[in-house]
Amino acid sequence: MDHQHEYTEEELLLKLEEFGYDPAFQDYYRRCIPFHTYPAPGLLIAIGMVDYALELLSAKPGEKVYAVCETQKCAPDPLQVIAYCTVGNHRLRVVPIGRFAITMNRPSLTNSADGFRVYVDTKKLGPYPVLEKWFANSPEFSKRTMVRTLVDEILASKRSILSVQKVRIPVTQKVRWNSAICKTCGEPIPEKLLEGDRCAGCGSLRYYEVIES
Ligand SMILES: [Zn+2]
Repeated sequence: MDHQHEYTEEELLLKLEEFGYDPAFQDYYRRCIPFHTYPAPGLLIAIGMVDYALELLSAKPGEKVYAVCETQKCAPDPLQVIAYCTVGNHRLRVVPIGRFAITMNRPSLTNSADGFRVYVDTKKLGPYPVLEKWFANSPEFSKRTMVRTLVDEILASKRSILSVQKVRIPVTQKVRWNSAICKTCGEPIPEKLLEGDRCAGCGSLRYYEVIES
């Protein structure tokens, strides 16, 4: 097979037009790719997943929604760019399960929220053999000869490779918290994060040695 060059961002946007994606969806691509820094196949799939989940919630980008992402790869980024669910605003939780799936729900004042879980359904990948190989991390997938075909298949598949579950998610309402001082470093942290009399940075989550201060 011939060598395939990756699509440039401009080529991708033309492809979207060809495949009949609407301007709002094209805009998701325009914003997500620079955020992620490159058009990773997982990112392109996840853009479609976030678009689908928002539609299931009848939510528009900018409305307050919450998301759980079951993989650390690619999918957290369109949740941040399109749905404004970020780690910093506590509307995005990334759970390192490794399934290519997201769950989204609207805010709830009770102790649970109903939402939708959207996932790549391997039973539906049959019509897209290159995508199937790539998704399975198969040695038969060759980036050198298949990268364009992979993207073509992702764009052609649209939502046909996704499945949806209606799910109920436990919700923890905001509680008041107290500040405490770590006995080792002297810096303040929320009291509930103390490990005995010290912070996790001086304990189980220590990740650096001071070389100058
Ligand atoms: Zn400390």
